[in-house]
Amino acid sequence: MNRADIFTQGLNVYPRSVREHEGTTLFIARDNGVKYLFAMGDSDAFDNLDGQEVTLPGGGAKRCPLSNRNAGVLRGFFPFTNPVNHKGRRITIGLGDRLGLASAGHIRLVRDYDVFPVLAQQSIRELTLTGRTYDDVLAAAVWAVFQEGYEDGWGADGDHLKTAAEVKMALDCGYTMITLDCSEHIRNDLAALPDGEVEREYANLAPAEAKALEGDYVGKSFPISRGEVAFTPAGFKRIILVYYGAVKHAINIYDELIKPRGHIDFELSVDETLSITSPQAHYYVARELQKAGVDITSLAPRFCGEFQKGIDYIGDTAAFEIDFKTHARVAEVFGYKLSVHSGSDKFTVFPLIGKKTGGHYHLKTAGTNWLEAVRVIAQRDPALFRRMCRFALEHLGEAKKYYHITENTANIPDIDDLPDAQLPLLLDQNDARQALHITYGLILSEKTAAGYTFRDEFFTVLDRNEDKYYAALHKHIGRHLEALGLTPRP
Ligand code: ZN
Repeated sequence: MNRADIFTQGLNVYPRSVREHEGTTLFIARDNGVKYLFAMGDSDAFDNLDGQEVTLPGGGAKRCPLSNRNAGVLRGFFPFTNPVNHKGRRITIGLGDRLGLASAGHIRLVRDYDVFPVLAQQSIRELTLTGRTYDDVLAAAVWAVFQEGYEDGWGADGDHLKTAAEVKMALDCGYTMITLDCSEHIRNDLAALPDGEVEREYANLAPAEAKALEGDYVGKSFPISRGEVAFTPAGFKRIILVYYGAVKHAINIYDELIKPRGHIDFELSVDETLSITSPQAHYYVARELQKAGVDITSLAPRFCGEFQKGIDYIGDTAAFEIDFKTHARVAEVFGYKLSVHSGSDKFTVFPLIGKKTGGHYHLKTAGTNWLEAVRVIAQRDPALFRRMCRFALEHLGEAKKYYHITENTANIPDIDDLPDAQLPLLLDQNDARQALHITYGLILSEKTAAGYTFRDEFFTVLDRNEDKYYAALHKHIGRHLEALGLTPRP
């Protein structure tokens, strides 16, 4: 069977997916609207896939569901369908796909830029809220990569993992990046203690270790590009109290799970915490990790201002510039990327992120891709969109247990007053964006005895309008890349 013949099979073939493996031709196509992997030819490849034998005009074929198992088989045939680490890649972007439908749209964008995409990226919180497993998330990315014939490398991030068991689970599934969330080991309660109490807490540390650390830092200053990071005695004690446990946790996880596997991108996140990370705290954490031989690919501090989900940066941009620049210089000393979380829609600060890092950073986005899906629903199925909006507003309180936002529902136009044609505009209104953003899990999981309230309809509309969704992502994430200062390859 030659490639040209495939397009005469009466199927809707994804042209970039057509591949040969040991005499079997494989490709993704829609058959009566449903996407499958087709295999034509006789080989182990053919036999290994689960599927149903069918007769196409050109001969026998196997029609295989896009299952996790078949994704695993495909990974054995084509190395490019396996995630890899992004060590040495200067600009990397996390493009979490909570629906398992967005990655092909992301690929169609990033293939034109010098950017490494981390296509699979989910936290445990997101898995729980969407009812998915790490295998599901990875397989969805594998299918997108195969569909689009994307051979330039992509990553898979077990995001915001907190325990050894969670890290092990993601690694066992084949994830190539681990973002260790140390927030539970950061003693925020000690950050604002009066000086006298700092002394009392500090006295609890093992004296020999405390002494050694003081010798390393107190009264010292360390050069960074165009400046230095200096440690005063009182300031240093406070840093130790707050971050000591986080450093120990990171070292343990690295030694036990990351190092033995090699070639894993290890990111340390201290962003989901109340304390803004000072340059001193950042320097201390980085240096202690370096002393312990921990090789990190990126580190996510908590910057000043607010990085809320799905809306622009909130805060003083001038203060952010100074804060961010210093963190970028600390990261430069240690040779890793500064990582920016909740990076969706931060258009005001994107130019700074691009410039102040000298084009060396990791940016994570996720929820904005869900919002673009909701925008497609608003355009294509106004009735479903109206039901979803009402539900989101009714259940906002519940969703706020998982996400911190400062929306004011009074600002959201009454949906009953809006004609269908204006519904998509709600996706441009910050309060509505936030409300729809954080209720994704509740919307997708809501069900009665009769079945899911929104989920099946939602996925059907999106599937039928796949090209519209890809185009929306291309446009919206494209605006992110442009604001970061990236230009498409000539
Ligand atoms: Zn984060």
